[in-house]
Amino acid sequence: MKPAGTVSLSANLGRIQERMAAACRRVGRSGPVTLVAVSKTVPAERIAEAYRAGVRHFGENRVQEFEEKHRLLTLPSALWHLVGHLQTNKAKRAVELFERVDSVDSLRLAEKLAAAARAAGRTLPVLLQVRLGEEQTKHGVRPEELPALAERIASLSSLGVKGLMALPPFREDPEEVRPYFRRLRELADSLAGRCMPGVGMGVLSMGMSHDFEVAIEEGATEVRLGTALFGPRPLP
Ligand SMILES: *Cc1c(COP(=O)(O)O)cnc(C)c1O
Repeated sequence: MKPAGTVSLSANLGRIQERMAAACRRVGRSGPVTLVAVSKTVPAERIAEAYRAGVRHFGENRVQEFEEKHRLLTLPSALWHLVGHLQTNKAKRAVELFERVDSVDSLRLAEKLAAAARAAGRTLPVLLQVRLGEEQTKHGVRPEELPALAERIASLSSLGVKGLMALPPFREDPEEVRPYFRRLRELADSLAGRCMPGVGMGVLSMGMSHDFEVAIEEGATEVRLGTALFGPRPLP
């Protein structure tokens, strides 16, 4: 017999993949779009279930929470993304725990991460988190500050900028989030046009459980899904 939860999780995954594919078809994209399973508050056992169902990219938003959970997990080809705000004093630990940091929003943080990555003998891929306006969070770099930040970070040889991430405001109607997604794509296009060595703009991480289809229509290459896959989280 399958352990409780397995059936619904793989059914959720199947439905999500169908919806992702349909969104690609609507705009004539051939993909690929990566599903990043945001597993904050989700117990290790349920994360392992998602892995068995085929998920390989996972996102966590707190270093400490993941530090505790990852000891319980042996998932050889899982790739871990830090998607939440990172305090500079946790940069070293983040470099040890995560394959990619998706929430870089200041030069100070980038420098700490670069130093930790250099000490660890690795190159750390990162995304720049952009604050498009009206977000619940105060984190993220403002669009007008983005080119200068990207340029400074490009000179840190142990970091590799791969693209942009954003967390637009929640709207009941996902259509109302579309302009934010479009704006992020335009920002990525304009940065790509500046041709900065060491700064790639191939990744656009945008779209969450309630609006990921609109994000894909607007060019998301990665969507970050928590509740759509794992079910509702406990209230904070
Ligand atoms: C929690 C979280 C998500 C996933 O949210 P859902 O609405 O549950 O899909 C995505 N991105 C970030 C940065 C998050 O913190």
